[in-house]
Amino acid sequence: MRNVKKQHLPTKVCAACGRPFTWRRKWERVWSEVRYCSDKCREHVKRTRAADCGSPGESVK
Ligand SMILES: [Zn+2]
Repeated sequence: MRNVKKQHLPTKVCAACGRPFTWRRKWERVWSEVRYCSDKCREHVKRTRAADCGSPGESVK
């Protein structure tokens, strides 16, 4: 007897939360570009990076 899965879907690790997530239908055309498991994570990274880019007012011009 074999233990065969119904589907063999690719997986990735979310660049934001670090959790693995599985391929979804809505990503079939952009899977190679998908880096986050959800829009929330993507927005989270955007905000974080935006904060980094803004840099604190400590830096001297
Ligand atoms: Zn995530």
